[in-house]
Order: sequence, then C-alpha cells, then structure tokens
Amino acid sequence: MSTTTIPAFRNLVGGALVDGVDGARRDVLNPATGEVIGRVPEGTQADVERAIEAARAARIPWRDTTPGQRMEHLLALADTIDRHAGELAALESLNVGKPMSLALEELPICSDELRFFAGAARTLSAPAAGEYGAGYTSMVRREPLGIVGQIAPWNYPLMMAIWKIAPALAAGNVVVLKPSELTPISTLRFAELAAEILPPGVLNVITGDGPGVGVGIVRHPAISMVSLTGSVATGRHIAAAAADTLKRVHLELGGKAPVVVFDDADPKAVAQGLRVASFLNSGQDCTAASRVLAGPGIYEALIEELVPAVSSLKMGDPADGDAIEMGPVISERQQEKVLGYLDRATAAGAEVLTGGSAGGDRGFFVQPTVVVGVGQQSEIVQQELFGPVVTVQRMADGDDAIAMANDVPYGLAASVWTRDVGRAMEAVRRLDFGCVWVNDHLPFLSEMPHGGFKESGYGKDLSVYALDDYTRVKHAMIKLD
Ligand code: NAD
Repeated sequence: MSTTTIPAFRNLVGGALVDGVDGARRDVLNPATGEVIGRVPEGTQADVERAIEAARAARIPWRDTTPGQRMEHLLALADTIDRHAGELAALESLNVGKPMSLALEELPICSDELRFFAGAARTLSAPAAGEYGAGYTSMVRREPLGIVGQIAPWNYPLMMAIWKIAPALAAGNVVVLKPSELTPISTLRFAELAAEILPPGVLNVITGDGPGVGVGIVRHPAISMVSLTGSVATGRHIAAAAADTLKRVHLELGGKAPVVVFDDADPKAVAQGLRVASFLNSGQDCTAASRVLAGPGIYEALIEELVPAVSSLKMGDPADGDAIEMGPVISERQQEKVLGYLDRATAAGAEVLTGGSAGGDRGFFVQPTVVVGVGQQSEIVQQELFGPVVTVQRMADGDDAIAMANDVPYGLAASVWTRDVGRAMEAVRRLDFGCVWVNDHLPFLSEMPHGGFKESGYGKDLSVYALDDYTRVKHAMIKLD
C-alpha cells in the first residue's frame, strides 16, 4: 500500500471529528501482512482533558432525557450499524485479521445489544415505594453515575466497545472511550456514524495507548467509573490507580476456559465443537476453549477426532477469500508470546500433535495447535496464551475433573460435555466460572450476563446486570405529616 492511500481516522470529541491535540499519529497494521492500513491520533493527557470537558457539558442534559428518548438514540445507532455492516466488518477483518465471515457475524450481534439495552433501560426494577418506617414513605431511585471511562481490547474491537457503550448510555451516563491502540479503526468509524445520531459529548472516542491515554482516564477525578476489557495485568493496574479517586471499577479480564469431557460424551461432537471454540478469532477470545480435560475412557477417541479436525483448519490472509477459516494473531509480539509458550512447553516434555509453529511468509501467523503431555501446574495450562492453541489433559472421572478445571487463577467460562443431566447439573454447580455451557462452548446472549470470577475480574457485561453496574441506587425517605 503506498503512503498516499493510507486513510487517516479522527477522534470523536464533543460531537466533532478531531485530530489529536498534539497532532501526533500512530500507524495501524494489518496483522495478516504487517502493512500499514490507517493512521489514528496518538493521544496524550491533553486529549483526555478535552474529551472529559466535552462529556461534562453533555452530562446533565443526557441524564435528564427519558429512558424512552435514550431508547430512540440507541435504536438509531443499531440501525446505522445494520446499514454499514459490510463496511464495518471489512474494517474489522482488515485490522484484526479475522475472516470476513466472522466479522460479518459480529455486526448483527452489536446491533442486537444496542436494541436490548434500548428497551431494558425502560424497565429497571427496585423495591416498591412504600411506608417501610411508620410515618415515612421510602422509594428507590436508579441514577446514572455520570462520566464513565471505558477501555477496550483488540480481539473484538467494535463488539467490545458496544458491550460498554450500550448499557452506559442507556442508563443515562456519558462516555469517554479508548479503543485498543492496535485496533481502533472500526470504533472510530462507528463514532463518526454516531456523531450524526447522538447529542455532542454524549459519546467521546479518543485513541492512544495505556500510558498515554488509558492512565489519564483512570486517574481523572471527573470520571465516576472505569470499565476495562483487557488482560489481568492491566486490570490490576487500573484497580490500583482507580483507588486514589475511589471510582467504581468494572473489569472483564482474561480467561483459561476448561472443557470437561466425561466418558459418556460424543468424541466427534466435542472435536467439532473445539474446532470452533478453540480457534475462532485465532483463539484470541477470553472464553476460548483452551484446555481440555478428558476422561480416561474418551481421551484416545477424542484425540483421534480432534487432531484431523484441527489440522484441517484453513489458515491464511482473510483477503484470500471465504475459504480462510483462521487468520493471524494480532501482532508480532503476540505471535512471539504464543510461540514462546509452545517452545517452553515442548522443552519441558509436552508433545505437539499438530501445528506448533508460525506459518506463512509474512504477517503474524501461528498454526492451529494441539498439545498433550502437559502438567496441571505448567504455565501452558495455568496462563492465558490468547492464541490458537489447545491443550488436552487426561483426567480421572468425577471429582478430579472439577478440581482440575477449577485449579487456575481465572474464572471466566467453562464447558462440560456429558449425556448425563444430573452429572452436568452437578458440574455446573461446582465449576467456579462466570459462565458454564453444557454440550457446547462459546455462545452468548444479550439477555444473559457475561463476566468472570477470581482473576477474570468483576462486574457484568450484557443483560440487566450490566445496567446495575452502570447505575447507582439512591434511597429517598419522605416524612409524612
Ligand atoms: P490489554 O490489557 O493489553 O489492553 C486492554 C486495553 O487497556 C487497551 O486499550 C490498552 O491500551 C489499555 N491499557 C493498557 N494498560 C493500561 C493502563 N495501565 N491503564 C489504562 N489502560 C491501559 O489487553 P489486550 O491485549 O488488548 O486484550 C486481550 C485481553 O483482553 C485478554 O487477556 C483477554 O482475555 C481480555 N478480554 C476479556 C474479555 C472479557 O469479557 N472478560 C473480552 C475480551 C478480551
């Protein structure tokens, strides 16, 4: 791509599309080729201050709109996403290196989430107003928090931004959002579309990295809540930094999802499920099926099904057409990280049954990989790789399975595979994860909560539970004559 054709994207601040205050720019890459595909403002504290000023000006008028009025805006945002789905998906595919088919699947999910929150904010519940103390009427008000700072990751850039924006705006907050510095362009294009719909300052989108912009959002006293989707390490930094101003923190962090396969499961169905759930988005999914725990009676049959299913995945540059099922990982750094885990695991005695190395002659590819012979305490089992790698461990049946599944620092998602409904229900009860699937792995719904336990964070995305996180509760107590 010649430098003259590289598009420049701008921030959205106070309803206007603007360059960064300092005028600096950052190159954005296509991870399938390493080529520059766009330039975005490289923000600083001055951009944070300007965005917060714009949000401040919009806060009270937006708070004072009715839920029905906010609904109209959110429905219009959903409609504009539907109308521009092809364009937004193409940007997402180019910037994240994901197949166009996957990018296209994400757009209707984004508009559905906006529509869900458009309606849900009209039905917030609270205890009935009444005379709980003699001579007094009490009632509960649900109020927005004010200015919410939101920080998004690179794996599903626009969808993660929508997960944050939709409940926050529906509840009457105004937003300052920072996309990942690696994948800002779909969110900036969405912001451009949103500028035609939302009142100025209600949604502000500013780009930059963690130290340049993220830290300033987290530390700013005018921000009432900060919501991060990102790694555990960043979550720790943000929770610590937010403590200074005691702001509310909402953390959707990493995962290491176990797939507990009991002996009575169907090995073919599990293998086909893993072909998707471990490798979708190149395994860069916080709920990816990253470690399989297979019962002694099914282990061999599962490996026999899984290895050919995984090695048949067609990896390549999504631009090469619809046959490509898996693209690159997001960056050279991520590629090196994933390959480093594989090198150290094999040096420690693990066996790679398929994949195991980089692929392609350019871009940041890692082959879809299956690893066996790994110990429960090994780093490849204990830590999130965020790449197209699944480990398979042999477990004893029953208690051992649940203990191994729970024995990681994360607690975001898990699945259990069995035909025995009683065993499935018992596993659901005992698994220490925010979401447990039975005989499937990955699907989610706008109506149901998404969020982790343990080091996967706290707070919920999606569902009415997200509206709890983006509102505060006030008791009004009125003395009667
Ligand atoms: P990351 O933590 O490196 O970055 C996330 C965001 O935080 C980026 O916008 C980054 O610029 C910003 N950031 C970094 N340091 C910061 C700081 N000190 N202060 C403020 N902001 C800072 O994560 P990533 O690599 O972009 O995303 C991958 C991670 O996100 C994985 O761990 C994945 O599991 C997690 N994730 C979680 C969910 C979920 O719902 N739980 C969903 C998607 C991704």
